[in-house]
Amino acid sequence: MIKPSKLNFLTSGIPLSTKKPGTLEGLKQVKKLDLDGMELEFVHSIHVTKEKVPEVSKIAKENNLMISCHAPYYINLNAKEKPKWHASISYIVQSAKITYLCNGYSVCFHPAYYMKDDHRLVYDKVKEAIKLILKELKENNMEIWVRPETAGKISQFGNIKELIDLSSEFENVLPCIDWSHLHAYSNGKYNSTEEFREVLSLMEKKLGKNALNNVHFHCQGVQYSEKGEKNHVNLKDSDLNYKDLVKVWKEFKLKGIVTCESPNIEEDAKLLKELYYK
Ligand SMILES: [Zn+2]
Repeated sequence: MIKPSKLNFLTSGIPLSTKKPGTLEGLKQVKKLDLDGMELEFVHSIHVTKEKVPEVSKIAKENNLMISCHAPYYINLNAKEKPKWHASISYIVQSAKITYLCNGYSVCFHPAYYMKDDHRLVYDKVKEAIKLILKELKENNMEIWVRPETAGKISQFGNIKELIDLSSEFENVLPCIDWSHLHAYSNGKYNSTEEFREVLSLMEKKLGKNALNNVHFHCQGVQYSEKGEKNHVNLKDSDLNYKDLVKVWKEFKLKGIVTCESPNIEEDAKLLKELYYK
């Protein structure tokens, strides 16, 4: 498992300022921008092929860049049809394997939709799926963090409590905390220093110091309604109190990665990094 030595700031996908297309060029641009890595966006497809892996891994290592990925959006570990449930597991495993081979640190995914089911039953189905995902990775000797992400919409499984419980049942599983999702899901809560501290203290209490030494966060501007997240916007166009959030990250002396999913990609990633290290 890769052990981060500090809090790293990553773009979500290829920076907009990248002159030539492709992941490799994107990584070089990330380095030029003085950012710390890239989250591979597999949200529509797992687009890094086995053939491309050695080059991605080489550039990442040479430039000391952290790599993570966001697995496809079409995953639902609460799918009713068995083939869909198995396919969802397979998308996460494939994403994790490719990312691991790229010298990657962590794979995050939106675990499931409640689909009006009893929340406890959904929890059990997600847990059963994660067990199979970990088994497959272990059989291949692939050590990478598996991260169910905090839900942005109220129709989605994954509030902070569910994800902390789930993580406490496995090694190699920790929540991906999307701070904008916490804020949007609760229709405007999780926006004060106290609330930010509460989340990190709960993680430390239930999952140990190790969880704070291995964070995977998302943070971007967000617009929302009573149903949760509507869309991502740039930080300056959102009411997310990112300045206090960054202060709380500092207080807790975190290690790991923060991926910024703002539409301006590198601008907000740089903004957060500068705030954190100033
Ligand atoms: Zn996400």
